[in-house]
Amino acid sequence: MKFAVLILSILIGGSMVPQIDKYSSLREKMVKEQIIDRGISDRATISAMRKVPRHLFVPADITDEAYDDNPLPIGYGQTISQPYIVAYMTEVARPTSRKKVLEIGTGSGYQAAVLAEITDTVYTIEIIPELEKEASDRFRKLGYKNIITRYGDGYKGWPEHSPFDIIIVTAAAEKIPQPLLDQLAENGRLVIPLGKPYAVQELILAVKKNGKTESKLLTYVRFVPFKRL
Ligand code: SAH
Repeated sequence: MKFAVLILSILIGGSMVPQIDKYSSLREKMVKEQIIDRGISDRATISAMRKVPRHLFVPADITDEAYDDNPLPIGYGQTISQPYIVAYMTEVARPTSRKKVLEIGTGSGYQAAVLAEITDTVYTIEIIPELEKEASDRFRKLGYKNIITRYGDGYKGWPEHSPFDIIIVTAAAEKIPQPLLDQLAENGRLVIPLGKPYAVQELILAVKKNGKTESKLLTYVRFVPFKRL
């Protein structure tokens, strides 16, 4: 590809510079200032954040804000998380190629796409049917064949595909849904915000060791509420 671009610019005598995606420099700046400078060091996470075109995961009228340092509305009262939070949750989950991942709360699909850049398969469940449809169309358009989406209540997890090495919940629940703990593999890692809707919530990491889960508080966050059907 680079070779073709080079030939093309030689052919036109260097008079025309190949057009650069205007969002790639915004994305690079976001990765440097919001991700690396704030302490995210996992190389797989950083390269996934460099790759996923976040501006294609937000509504068309706010694409220019896609790389800003905050969450953004995606319709239906829901939000796409702030880039740093997506990177932080990804790093903490420790994804590697062979791991099987479940995400609860597909939303725009951005977090799932970041995970899918690193792992073999990402299963993701969304409770708002319109968002589930939009996200699965988006995955198809962008070529994410390793993301499997489903409409439904993520409280129950996805038993047919369990156990999962990683479970990431992107809506705040009052406590960890028992089915998710049951579907977590040995040494599996579950990341979930816990707390009251729209209040400051605790981001929790639960790790399963010898069948028991140990939880630890990571940081404070603010997520949209976990709903039930
Ligand atoms: N991960 C998303 C963030 C979306 S916000 C992204 O990267 O864009 C959280 C999402 O969780 C919302 O879309 C909301 O509809 C969904 N949600 C809330 N409760 C849920 C449940 N019980 N099961 C599945 N999805 C749920």
